[in-house]
Amino acid sequence: MDGVAPSAVVFPGSFDPIHNGHLDLIERAGRVFPQVIVAVLKNVSKAQWFSVEDRMRIVRESVKSLPNVRVEQSAGLLAEFVEQSGAHLILRGIRSGADLDYERPMAITNQALAPGVETIFLLASPHFAHLSATLVKELAVFGADLSRWVPPAAQAAIARRSRQENDGHPRE
Ligand code: ADP
Repeated sequence: MDGVAPSAVVFPGSFDPIHNGHLDLIERAGRVFPQVIVAVLKNVSKAQWFSVEDRMRIVRESVKSLPNVRVEQSAGLLAEFVEQSGAHLILRGIRSGADLDYERPMAITNQALAPGVETIFLLASPHFAHLSATLVKELAVFGADLSRWVPPAAQAAIARRSRQENDGHPRE
């Protein structure tokens, strides 16, 4: 493998909001790859709690102590974003067999769209394998303490949103 430069890896997601399962994956990837580019996806099919600007701000705040992690927005095709960023790897997390079934067609499609770009997978750490942004939001609706599951910036954004909902004000 002499002469093969290690590649940056792109970690895409909606991060609505980022939680400790995502952060665990980012930290682990940062120990393996020279650079991790967190790509916050603008056009996601799921309904979002937070705007892409807010999601990026929360992610940036949450990874600010990690020197080889940068945060960018991806508004179009992920394959194009990865090619433009000069990376050759897409990283996704696998919590379960259902995740793998969901990921398989996307990985094959991205390989067809951007030959040479590979999708690689890291298994979720057992401590976080149950965690999803959907679960975080369900807990948030009922006012649960989220400090174990999300970074402080996400906790603050959720609290702000809850206050706005309770006051009957439109969301940020
Ligand atoms: P998407 O909408 O693209 O699935 P998410 O923000 O939900 O975006 O997830 C982004 C990535 O993080 C996906 O690869 C997902 O599998 C992974 N991921 C989500 N939750 C966890 C977790 N608890 N542990 C490890 N990886 C996770």
